[in-house]
This record gives sequence, C-alpha cells and structure tokens, in this order.
Amino acid sequence: MYTALKDQLTAELAEIEQAGTFKHERVISTAQGNRITAGPIGRDGAEVLNFCANNYLGLADDPRLLEAAKKALDERGFGMASVRFICGTQDLHLQLERAVSDFLGTEDTILFSSCFDANGAVFEPLFGTEDAIISDALNHASLIDGIRLSKAARFRYRNADLDDLRTQLEAAAALRDGQGARRTIIVTDGVFSMDGYLAPLPGICDLAEEFGALVMVDDSHATGFMGATGAGTPEHFGVSDRIDLFTGTFGKALGGASGGYVSGRGEIVAMLRQKGRPYLFSNSLAPSIVAATLTALELVEGSGELRETLFRNAELFRRRMSEEGFELLPGEHAIVPVMFGDASLAAKVADAMLENGVFVTAFSYPVVPQGKARIRVQLSAAHTEADIETAVQAFVASRAAVQGE
Ligand SMILES: *Cc1c(COP(=O)(O)O)cnc(C)c1O
Repeated sequence: MYTALKDQLTAELAEIEQAGTFKHERVISTAQGNRITAGPIGRDGAEVLNFCANNYLGLADDPRLLEAAKKALDERGFGMASVRFICGTQDLHLQLERAVSDFLGTEDTILFSSCFDANGAVFEPLFGTEDAIISDALNHASLIDGIRLSKAARFRYRNADLDDLRTQLEAAAALRDGQGARRTIIVTDGVFSMDGYLAPLPGICDLAEEFGALVMVDDSHATGFMGATGAGTPEHFGVSDRIDLFTGTFGKALGGASGGYVSGRGEIVAMLRQKGRPYLFSNSLAPSIVAATLTALELVEGSGELRETLFRNAELFRRRMSEEGFELLPGEHAIVPVMFGDASLAAKVADAMLENGVFVTAFSYPVVPQGKARIRVQLSAAHTEADIETAVQAFVASRAAVQGE
C-alpha cells in the first residue's frame, strides 16, 4: 500500500530541496542562550552567537527560572497526566492564570499547552454562522487555522490597512440582509513577526468602536517587553482597556519553554473553560513550566532593566548595520529584518554567517513576499555590546564573501 505514497513523497521532498526551501535544522548541544554550540545535523557543532531566538529577555537559561522549575519538580512532580477539568489543575495553574491577568490588567486568563492551541480554542465556541471574524492578512498561522475551525463569515483585510479594515467591517455590517453580524471581532497580531511592524491598534480600536466590534490581539512577540511595564502592544499604544481578548505565548520572552493563554473578559474565559476543545482534550501544562513562568513574570514585573537592555541592543544593532550600508526595515522592535531581496543571496549570506560564528536565519517566498528575501535578526537582552559588534562584523564579512564568489 505504501509504495505509491512513498514515491510521491520522495519526489515532493526532492522538489522542495531543489526549490531551495527545504528547512534544514541546526542541532544545538547546549542550553538556549546568546552563546550556543550549534551545527548542521550529523556534523560537530561550533560555538556561535545566536541571533535568531525569540529569547527576547534572555530568560531561557536564567538561573532563577531553573531554580523555580527544579523546586516544582521536587514538590509537584513531573507531569499531571490529566486535562485540567478531570484532575489536572494544581494551585500553580491558578496562580499563573491570576498572575497573567494581573500583568495584563484583564479579568481572567485560561492556560493552554501553546499559543497555537489558545488560538485554536478561541473562535469555534464563540463565533457561529451569524457572526463575522475580520482578520489581518499577515496574521499568524495559528490564528488563520483557529478562525477556519469556526463557522463564522470570514473577512480578511490587507496588512495593517485601516481603510481596507473599514471596507471589511462594512461587508460584515451588510450580512444577514443588512442586519449585520450578531457578533463581529477584529483579530490581529500585535507584532508582525516577519517585519517587526506593530499593528495600528489605536485605529483598529476606533473602527471597532464605530462598528460595534470586539478586538483580539495575539501579542506573542510583545508580551513581557513592549509597553512601559511589558504588558505588550496595547500598553505601548495606551489602548489596553479597549482590547477584549489577548492571546500570547510563554514560549518566547517569558522563558521560552511552552504554554499559551487567552486573557480578557471574564465570561469569555469562563466559556472557553467549558467549550474550548484544546483545553478540554489536551494535557495540562507541566508544573515545572508553570512555576518557572510565574518566576519569569515576577522578574519582568519587578524590573524594567531587561526591557531597557533589549531596546538599547536593538537600537545599537540597527544603527551599526545602517552605518555599514545594510538595508533594514525601519522600526523599534527587537525583530530586525536585514533585506537582501534575492532568496539565494539571503540564504548564502546566512550560511556564511554561521561559518563566521553567528547563527541567523534567512526567510524567502512564500514566508515573505516574492523578491523580499531577508535575514531576520532577533536581539536579546542577553546580548552584550561586543556580541552585537561581532554580529555586525560577521554581516560585513559574509556579504563580502558572497559577493566575491
Ligand atoms: C509564536 C507565535 C504563536 C505560537 O506560540 P506557541 O506557544 O509556540 O504555540 C502564536 N501566535 C503568534 C503571533 C506567534 O508569534
């Protein structure tokens, strides 16, 4: 039976390889951090600087998180072997839900194994055939998939384009013979991860108010470091109280292990506990992760120092790369896209970077538009100024090596 499928898959895999879009993983044999040992599968790794993790605050190997995780292992065990509603809720889970609510200034929070699951849970129970979901064209794959699971009418607006958002809101208002959708929600990433651009939240909230729509922000690339206290892009823009639903991840700035959440209005969270399928049918977060994430939130709340270091690092990198003549997408976020245009050029420079001791990743079509290939650099509070200068010099040397070929 398998022979035909085997041949088809082998041919398809060869096509992906030939198109230059095959994802070859690098193996890391150390903890995640700014300095890691990494290399291609099957070869010895070398010590390199890491500039492509979502480890924005450098907490992934922080001793205080490790200590909290170890203590929870000793006191609360390895795993829950249950979903939350059967026998998988420890006091730690409730503490983390409370801590996230306090951190974001929301009424309630519900945990998931990942933000991918949080986004997969949120739409189907709340939005049916009478409702409308209006989604930014560049939203994360998990939002796109989650929205697909609901039976609501779906509308898409061009990335961050408020004029097009208005057009789509008007279309939603024309549903049901002009009565309008029963419920309408606008869904956006807080930060678009390929560009490092922020969603225009004030304009989105104004339009939501005008059309009576809810607003949901997936703030995975912002929670913990954007905004005065790290509460994310709504805080950055001063619109936190106008956001109905937040989703986010613990797998990026907040220690980087895993876990996600939906946070916001109390009744919505209460309904998701009853009907959210990834909550009902998937295992509870491990106690050690919950405990360490609680510590991560305490660290972030207690001090702005990591955030300040992160943004200082991002600014330094942006300035030095511009001085060296690289084309960057403008912005302030710790995601800094270095633009190359041509896909194979970006890939060759990224390979040369690794040879020069700096780990970065190239992205090309279809992840980014045709002709907009780039190396996406991500800064961390763990980087030193010397690390950043090393990365800049590696870019200069790698560009010269590739151009000289
Ligand atoms: C990373 C990311 C996710 C997925 O988070 P996980 O917890 O790793 O599943 C979801 N949405 C956005 C916007 C992200 O950047």
